[in-house]
Amino acid sequence: MNQSPTITPNFINGRLSNGQERHLEVISPVDGRILSKVVLSDSSDLNVAVNKAQKAFPNWSQKTLKERVQVFYNFRQLLIDHLEELGQLIHLENGKTLGEAKAEVMKGIELTEFACSLPQFINDEIQIVSQGIECRTTHVPLGIVASISPFNFPAMVPLWTIPNALALGNCMILKPSEKTPMAAIKIAELLSKAGLPDGVFNVVNGDKEIVEAICDHPDILAVSFVGSTQVAKIVYKRATSNLKRCMAMGGAKNHLIVLPDAHLDMAANIVASMAGCAGQRCMAASAMVAVGNTDKIIKQICEEAKNWEAGNNLGAVISMEAKQRIESYITEAVEKGAKLLVDGRNTKPKGFENGSYVGVTILDEVRPDMKIAKEEVFGPVLVIMRTNDIDEAIKIENASNYGNASSVFTQNGSLANYIMDRVSAGMVGVNVGVPVPREPFSFGGWNESRFGVNDITGKSSISFWTKIKKRTTKWNAEDWRDWMS
Ligand code: NAD
Repeated sequence: MNQSPTITPNFINGRLSNGQERHLEVISPVDGRILSKVVLSDSSDLNVAVNKAQKAFPNWSQKTLKERVQVFYNFRQLLIDHLEELGQLIHLENGKTLGEAKAEVMKGIELTEFACSLPQFINDEIQIVSQGIECRTTHVPLGIVASISPFNFPAMVPLWTIPNALALGNCMILKPSEKTPMAAIKIAELLSKAGLPDGVFNVVNGDKEIVEAICDHPDILAVSFVGSTQVAKIVYKRATSNLKRCMAMGGAKNHLIVLPDAHLDMAANIVASMAGCAGQRCMAASAMVAVGNTDKIIKQICEEAKNWEAGNNLGAVISMEAKQRIESYITEAVEKGAKLLVDGRNTKPKGFENGSYVGVTILDEVRPDMKIAKEEVFGPVLVIMRTNDIDEAIKIENASNYGNASSVFTQNGSLANYIMDRVSAGMVGVNVGVPVPREPFSFGGWNESRFGVNDITGKSSISFWTKIKKRTTKWNAEDWRDWMS
């Protein structure tokens, strides 16, 4: 290993490795400083990683599930021990606040705990199906699998897949976002320290080129992707056309339907949902459909927005390009007739002048046909559309191409159920701004927020990471014969 400390390398076969000559600067959104240069690998690096993973697979997959999860008990403790360090890394490379960064690691710990509980979840079946004949099923790992992740959760999204896929006996290649590659390398080191054999988990850094190489690699059998819908479609098509198993999570435009009886104190949840992680969550509230007279609630939301201070409890967005994109959405909406209630453009917190910050922004009187109402903005921006009719509100939500999350704010249980039954989203909530289903429930949207059939976490992920072997056995020759014996 011969590498400069400013390089974010690959992690292959239990070692850091420098890969190719191509690099990309990793710039901190917090203050614009260059944190490191990430290696942009090519298919030869991927081939090495796959080769090492193939060598590790026979031993790893032949261990029992109970043996494999011991590594994750150790890993869980290491995540706790390195919470502060990982939090700092994520804060610097992603721009979210330190508190948000640590919360993401805490969620990673919960995901690891779920993997530790897999021996309790995997219930293979056994049944006497004919006289003297027994059928039983076993979950078998697939082999070498890949996980491709986005910038917005540098630790949590990789940890959606790593513990379950590995505990179930697979070996993995992770391709983190080239914008936030540093936490993934730390995770790899901690897994090694936890006792994971070399080659079982490998990180291959890079950009589009390496994603394409993953989709095309004949020895990678399953691809899990999380990112924008545009890229999710490309990856899903390319991986499945190469006959791989694929689940590809895409972008989102999450609707909140707010009724006039919503509790005023819930306004804080609405703002926390749209502003948390600077609005860069696929579960963030983005479009609010206000039904009837909700002026008091909207006023309260604007009051709450004042509690979010860029550079303090409001983090940065990922880059200057992202800031410009978000601000141009706002400007265009205003030009098209939206009413700006809170304007977060041109935010430059003192001491972080070179950071990429957008203040909390709230736009009222937005029409459903406006670009800002339809597209994913991915910043701390809430657009408010007004209607007097609940069915019209549902229609607005249903018209979205996406379908990750939707929440209803009301104190009326039957209306909440009526709306939840009709919104077209995989994860729905009542008076909850970010309705993430916690383990053992699984995470996954609908429509263009997810391609493929499985959810990415929880119980639903088990069938993605395994195949089922069906075994039929007869021991006694004298047993009664029928048409199938
Ligand atoms: P992105 O799609 O730009 O990148 C995701 C991954 O794809 C990265 O590793 C990147 O290197 C790679 N990539 C980028 N362009 C590519 C191309 N043309 N071909 C092949 N690979 C390519 O996403 P992002 O900007 O990093 O992340 C933000 C997006 O992720 C948002 O849309 C957000 O909603 C979404 N997201 C979705 C979920 C979910 O569960 N549905 C969760 C988190 C984030």
